[in-house]
Amino acid sequence: MKPADYLMLVVAFVAVAAVALQLWRGTKRRDDTGINLSRIVCPKCGEPAPLMRTPTSFRQMLRGGITCAKCGTEMDKWGREIARR
Ligand SMILES: [Zn+2]
Repeated sequence: MKPADYLMLVVAFVAVAAVALQLWRGTKRRDDTGINLSRIVCPKCGEPAPLMRTPTSFRQMLRGGITCAKCGTEMDKWGREIARR
């Protein structure tokens, strides 16, 4: 390999590491960049969220979260209620 190839490898590795670190921090802090692998339930009525979530808004598409099928409460991917305007 040429020296430039090694540089590309290092750059790629750093990029992957940065993304992994951000995901880990987001998961720890429970913010929008985290990953929640456990199922969430509606904070209002206790209805479990479906495994296949269908985004009902652009925000949900980007950041996760669902709308309760039973009572219509919007929650984030951590199962916390999102205040509606
Ligand atoms: Zn609900």
